[in-house]
Amino acid sequence: MAKERLLTCIVCPRGCQMKVTLSDDGKPTAVEGNFCKRGATYANDECTNPKRTVTSTVRCKSGDVVSVKTDRTVPKGKMLEVMVEINSVLADDNVKIGDIIIENVCDTGANVVATSNH
Ligand code: SF4
Repeated sequence: MAKERLLTCIVCPRGCQMKVTLSDDGKPTAVEGNFCKRGATYANDECTNPKRTVTSTVRCKSGDVVSVKTDRTVPKGKMLEVMVEINSVLADDNVKIGDIIIENVCDTGANVVATSNH
């Protein structure tokens, strides 16, 4: 018997409520309730390889902190590793919004970028 999973699409503020039908091995076979194709892509990713944007802060050399985020989503299973690397760096004191603080963090292909000025 096919399993179902209910998901809220988080790609845009519309927040479509979706029903995903899963095969016996957990793979999505159908998505309903999505207003656009991005919802189906999100649902498929969420059921097979969930990803998230990581937001955090990085300490500057002066001791102040600057807010940061990954510039693309990273696998949910790598979030802890990404946080450990974020916590291990010191940013320059002249950091500006958009500056790359860590390139290709944990080999995810994502950069950690500043989201505020110091
Ligand atoms: S399915 Fe499309 S319209 Fe609906 S929340 Fe996702 S991105 Fe937005």
